[in-house]
Amino acid sequence: MAACLFCRIISGEIPSRKVYEDDRTFAFEDIRPGAPTHILLLPKRHLAGLAEATAADESLLGYLQLQAAELARRRGLDRGYRTVLNVGPDAGQSVFHLHLHLLGGRPLSWPPG
Ligand code: AMP
Ligand code: ZN
Repeated sequence: MAACLFCRIISGEIPSRKVYEDDRTFAFEDIRPGAPTHILLLPKRHLAGLAEATAADESLLGYLQLQAAELARRRGLDRGYRTVLNVGPDAGQSVFHLHLHLLGGRPLSWPPG
């Protein structure tokens, strides 16, 4: 989708601090980190968010979580981390290309704000 910020990051049109890429997914550092590790993991194929996902996206959604766990291992987040999908306006979703936040490197309070 030409106008989508994250599609433009995936294509390289807009620069990012890439941390991982494969045939299905792309990951980069969040520009406004909320924790010492704050990585965004995205499907390369445009999908607006979890609310728009269908049964056809089942394996993709699981794959994103497993990739987050692998990145957390690589970052040495042995004390824990959080994976987050913000869905819709009340949850603060601001970019409508599905992305998993991987946050870690400090104690994370619960419940989130
Ligand atoms: P959300 O609020 O869940 O939609 O998350 C969007 C995230 O994208 C926020 O944490 C932003 O800081 C991050 N973000 C926005 N623009 C960029 C960018 N150009 N590069 C990296 N991260 C970005
Ligand atoms: Zn997109």
